[in-house]
Amino acid sequence: MAQRKIALACNVCGSRNYTLAANPNRTERLEIKKFCKFCGEHTLHRETR
Ligand SMILES: [Zn+2]
Repeated sequence: MAQRKIALACNVCGSRNYTLAANPNRTERLEIKKFCKFCGEHTLHRETR
């Protein structure tokens, strides 16, 4: 079974810094604060495809 992966992109610079396995039970977009090494600080990261 293929596992779907999603990427979390920094909302400030757009870099895709994190990937994680998609949860099939969750449909809404994920928004989470994570550290962006390009911005050098914690920024809002958003789920992309
Ligand atoms: Zn960034």
